[in-house]
Amino acid sequence: MNSSAYKRNLSPDSDLQFVKGVGPALASLFGRNGYRTVGDFIKNYPRAFEDQRAARLIATLQDGDIVSLKAFVVSVSNYNMGKSSRKVYDIMVRDSSGQIRCKFFRVPYKGYFERFKAGTEIRVVGKVTNYRGRLEFHHPDMRDIDPNEEIKDALIPIYIEHEGIGSGKIQKFIQNCFLQLKEWSPEKFPESLLQKHNLITNEQALHEIHHPNMSEASLYNENRSSAHRRIIFEEFFWLELYLASKKSNLKKEKGIVVKNQSKLSSDLVKSLPFELTGAQVTAYQEIKQDLGSGRPMNRLVQGDVGSGKTLVSFLATLSSFESGFQSCLMAPTEILAEQHFRNAEKQLGPLGVKIGLLTGKSKTKERKELMEKLSSGEIHFLIGTHALIEDWVQFKNLALVIIDEQHRFGVAQRSILKSKGYCPHFLIMTATPIPRTLAMTVYGDLDVSIINEMPKGRSPIQTRVIQESKRNAAVQFMAEQIAKGRQAYVVYPLVEESEKIDLKNATDEFEKLKTQFPNIRFGLLHGKMKALEKDEIMQLFRKHDLDVLVSTTVIEVGVDVANANMMIIEHAERFGLSQLHQLRGRVGRGEHKSFCVMIMGYAVSVDTRSRVEFMEKTNDGFKVAEYDLEIRGPGEFMGSKQSGLAGFKMANLVRDFELLKLARDSAFEMLKQDPDLKRKEHSLIREELLKSYGPQALAGVG
Ligand code: ADP
Ligand code: MG
Repeated sequence: MNSSAYKRNLSPDSDLQFVKGVGPALASLFGRNGYRTVGDFIKNYPRAFEDQRAARLIATLQDGDIVSLKAFVVSVSNYNMGKSSRKVYDIMVRDSSGQIRCKFFRVPYKGYFERFKAGTEIRVVGKVTNYRGRLEFHHPDMRDIDPNEEIKDALIPIYIEHEGIGSGKIQKFIQNCFLQLKEWSPEKFPESLLQKHNLITNEQALHEIHHPNMSEASLYNENRSSAHRRIIFEEFFWLELYLASKKSNLKKEKGIVVKNQSKLSSDLVKSLPFELTGAQVTAYQEIKQDLGSGRPMNRLVQGDVGSGKTLVSFLATLSSFESGFQSCLMAPTEILAEQHFRNAEKQLGPLGVKIGLLTGKSKTKERKELMEKLSSGEIHFLIGTHALIEDWVQFKNLALVIIDEQHRFGVAQRSILKSKGYCPHFLIMTATPIPRTLAMTVYGDLDVSIINEMPKGRSPIQTRVIQESKRNAAVQFMAEQIAKGRQAYVVYPLVEESEKIDLKNATDEFEKLKTQFPNIRFGLLHGKMKALEKDEIMQLFRKHDLDVLVSTTVIEVGVDVANANMMIIEHAERFGLSQLHQLRGRVGRGEHKSFCVMIMGYAVSVDTRSRVEFMEKTNDGFKVAEYDLEIRGPGEFMGSKQSGLAGFKMANLVRDFELLKLARDSAFEMLKQDPDLKRKEHSLIREELLKSYGPQALAGVG
């Protein structure tokens, strides 16, 4: 290539259309795909690297290899997946040593498969996957053989195709970017940081990711080359620095000092028929320290379902009460609020704590009375739903806010309470075990206590995933458990867009079950019922006046009925694994062996099936969460696109955990050394932080 033909006239901000070969039409195509400038385009990182030194024969392939091979098309076919109308495409290819299937679960673009005629020679680049004992490719790159193709001693970067613009073309354009760039964005990291963590410069990393450094050839496909390290580190670093600055802002606020008195909490512990687990004790100690520190607590307590988080929060409430302050507990649903209220009455009431319950159904008059008692300080502990923080709720001296069972519930509420003049301690409890990686990102501004120990005497829940066709066996099994005096749940998913159908399914099934088992007492619970009705049903179930609760709702995750030892989950494929785990946690709470049967609907893809089958393998919520995160990605895992997580182009929370830790430590260390980022060597870092997160991100910095 004659590089003198290129003018070095572009900067990272230049429009992509000025890159040789691109032009306005392609620039608009790439723009649609998120690449507008030269700088954007250079961050279109290769998704794999074709190792041309190792041109491979089909017979030598192994699971997990990323390979490039030449082969002939044998046939192209497609078929429907299960009973759905989704098609799977198969391209069978062979070489002199054997043949292998290239599978596509979606059509890359219209006309894609028409390109492949039997007998044509093509190049296949992709990752070998073992599917039920057979090796195949899923969505490999398939391209025509370049007649002038010579095997070079090289790694060729492979890019994701955009609307038919193949990897080869994209590679060419990227090379042109490099040839035309006259200047690079300056290195933002100080020399000392690069040295300390053995990182190459940004410019070198971007160059090497697109022009692999052959001395590290074996690391590229493992995403561990120096270029990968630098880019991944940097992606994590910006997020962590942001979180570090947020956290240090919180720490600058003044918090109510709750003195470390523990007479009442030890009274409570003594009154219990069981001992605290070690993890509960540790979590409570961490909380006590926070409460007395003079800074507002922002602590997340995460522990698997049934690990006893509520009790820990009650102990914290006692500390607050003992120092003369009020506390409140916010639950996501009324049923849970009521359950907490009952437990609090039982456990805290005898110690002198006056407890109030505020839900949507509290009557106006009751409310008024309650509010008077709250503002006078007669009520010490208010339990309820979101209503707790509405405008008309005025505390006398609120010191502790406990938030149960919901992701990120706390953030918005925190600012509301602050605007009312409170600056209480926050304790957030979540039953979704959050993988450590997410705890360091999404929750990175919170302190975390982990309850990783279950109360003694719980036996693991036995889980089975079955097909719809086997459901009768499951229902029979349930009937046997009922006959032994146990109780059961049958859970239906409620998906918004088909709410009516789902509701009908549950209602129909409820009627069917009643006819099929006239001796079993069934109750139906769904979101469209009035609070009072729901409550009544729950009460009946709790008192064992009902044997089976058929429920459409997925929100009643905290319900605690120890005699229930069996759950059937319908359409398990519609739930995320962490949700399934939470649901499953309703059983296995008592002395009886517990069972959970997950029924898969018809027409479920193989991938989905194997995903759900993971639930059979473990009862460990952390393992489930890690796996869920790995396969669904952080956005889906968290139930919404969390800002900061969507921004990773190369980094992968699960795979790159070590780098995440490194980036987190360095970001926190940097702010510790230079809290306002005022040092000269940090000026570009400060600028970048303000640019990506806005001025309020740095409110406390400088
Ligand atoms: P979760 O962490 O899911 O909110 P809960 O707080 O609802 O769990 O506790 C589940 C059940 O276990 C409750 O009935 C609670 O009283 C009981 N429990 C809590 N701690 C212990 C313990 N250390 N030993 C035995 N049972 C406990
Ligand atoms: Mg709970």
